[in-house]
Amino acid sequence: MPADTAPLLADRTGVGYAGGVLCVGGVPVTEAVAATGTPAYVYALDAVEAAYRRTVAAFAPLGAEVLYAVKANGNLAVLRHLAAAGAGFTVAGGGELTRVLAAGRGRGTVVLAGRGTTTDELALAVAHGVVVHVQSADELAALQAVAASRGVRARFAVRVNPAVASSAPVALRTGEADAPFGMPPPVAVALLARAAAGGYPDLDAVGVHVHVGSQLAVPAPYAAGARVALDVLRAGRALGLPLRALDAGGGFPVDEGGGPATGPEAFAAALEPVVAGAGVRLAVEPGRSLVAGAGALVTRVRYRLHRPGRPAVVADTGMHHLLRPALYGARHRVVPVAEAPGGEPTTVVGPCCEPGDVLADGVPLPPLAPGDLLAVLDAGAYGMTMASNYNGHPRPAEVVVTGGVATVARRRETWSDELAWET
Ligand SMILES: *Cc1c(COP(=O)(O)O)cnc(C)c1O
Repeated sequence: MPADTAPLLADRTGVGYAGGVLCVGGVPVTEAVAATGTPAYVYALDAVEAAYRRTVAAFAPLGAEVLYAVKANGNLAVLRHLAAAGAGFTVAGGGELTRVLAAGRGRGTVVLAGRGTTTDELALAVAHGVVVHVQSADELAALQAVAASRGVRARFAVRVNPAVASSAPVALRTGEADAPFGMPPPVAVALLARAAAGGYPDLDAVGVHVHVGSQLAVPAPYAAGARVALDVLRAGRALGLPLRALDAGGGFPVDEGGGPATGPEAFAAALEPVVAGAGVRLAVEPGRSLVAGAGALVTRVRYRLHRPGRPAVVADTGMHHLLRPALYGARHRVVPVAEAPGGEPTTVVGPCCEPGDVLADGVPLPPLAPGDLLAVLDAGAYGMTMASNYNGHPRPAEVVVTGGVATVARRRETWSDELAWET
């Protein structure tokens, strides 16, 4: 069966049809967006929590902590819900850390894994006891300077580039030898040696971090990356450092067609022989797999377009709100909110003045007319966090559903909001 036509199962916690209408968390989409209109992202928080708990259970035999990668979806309601469920967090910078703090943080570990961290970001992390995962000798020196100038101790881990070939889509690979992420193992060991020799007097080395990429189809590269990280950790221990933290990163996949994807259990099983008996405190950092399937981007057909070939409609959302198809060819299912079996291959474009503003091409849809509601599925990850104001369009509203109740979590931006930042 072509991926685009895989049936949606009715699911009261996630996204699926019930009674002929698409529901998110058991609430009809028509109801969920009644207060906001479209476009709106709608997230089923109970489905996010279920995915989190499944991941926790999968890694429980390994004693691993689950740190949610905030860059996938930073909505405060999502963060609050995950914090309440016990999740820790991985943040990419000060903005995301501010969100985690605003969401109440929870009891879990918080780590900062940026690439070009600023002094302000490092200072905020240090002030809140956040572990900094450094990617270069320069960044480690900057962290030492921040800790010294504030008279506090700071904790860090080294992020290694494991140089493993990953099964991730090219645009999502971060662990190949030439990927500009992390440092080669010998550099990491050299920095740990310098730390062991007192070269960073205000810092405590706590562990090693690796992240091989996103959308990993199979767990083998994940385990291979963790093995490289563990080798570096052992080398650091041999230098006398009490390293305990092994952070194996994220990357658990979501199937674009809505079918089953390799689950956290398979990743845990692949990691088990690597970390068995190593005496490490393991962390894993899923982003996408916790939130993607729990979210839909609800949009309204504005107009039918005239062109030869398959029918084409312009929706009230596009690449400015969901960049993934335009950025790296990601495919999203687009379905009618009013259930309609079958349909004709249809092109759905956005309102931006860009030929690349195509949400989906050839998705089976019933005959559409202005005002019809559509939903872009698996939009809970890397959707709103990548949204922009391109073409001067305000960013969408966000609605969260939990316990069968929909709540507006973020109002739609307005045209005047867009002027607020300019002096
Ligand atoms: C992006 C990222 C993640 C999450 O990746 P997913 O593919 O969304 O699971 C985890 N860790 C780090 C360091 C990242 O940069």
